[in-house]
Amino acid sequence: MRYNDHLPSNVHVLRPRKLAPADRLDQFLEKHALTADEAAARIDPTRPKTPGINAIICASCSQAEYIARDYCRCGHYLRGQLEDEFLAWEEQIQADHTQLANVTAEKLKPLRFVFLASSPIIVVPMLYLAFWAEGFSVHPILWMMAGVALLGAAAVIERVLQRPVDTSMQFLDTYTFESFVEDRFFRLKVQG
Ligand SMILES: [Zn+2]
Repeated sequence: MRYNDHLPSNVHVLRPRKLAPADRLDQFLEKHALTADEAAARIDPTRPKTPGINAIICASCSQAEYIARDYCRCGHYLRGQLEDEFLAWEEQIQADHTQLANVTAEKLKPLRFVFLASSPIIVVPMLYLAFWAEGFSVHPILWMMAGVALLGAAAVIERVLQRPVDTSMQFLDTYTFESFVEDRFFRLKVQG
């Protein structure tokens, strides 16, 4: 593992996506035992199956080529093409997340009023019961129950709306080069 030779002391704070795409491609290929040398030794005269996780369509000759190859048989620099695709993919998932977060924030806005409105519905009857009520009255209790129900419903709705944003954020924090390759494969399969 050539990466262990020169790891900085603060390696634990480095997230995988801070690595250059080229390094990540190396890691991916190493992990799958597809280092450039090995891949070269394994080259089959036939083209890979498409769509396949192992295949990339050359932007120059439009032929399917093995993803582990640096160059297409036509001479096009496939690795650069893959890195470009990866960078575009990163931008896209960032943009998708921002859009989802903005749309969700808009949806959550009305809930703020519900939170604001339910506090006095709970607090005022409570104060009334504690300080001003002469004898027991059921109405303050009913108001408080309504306030609590409203608050509870708003909290549940907020959680449900917020969950996709949290999931998306978690993906942004943890995705790897493999996520890209898998996602790419999935999208090609859906298209194809
Ligand atoms: Zn080509």
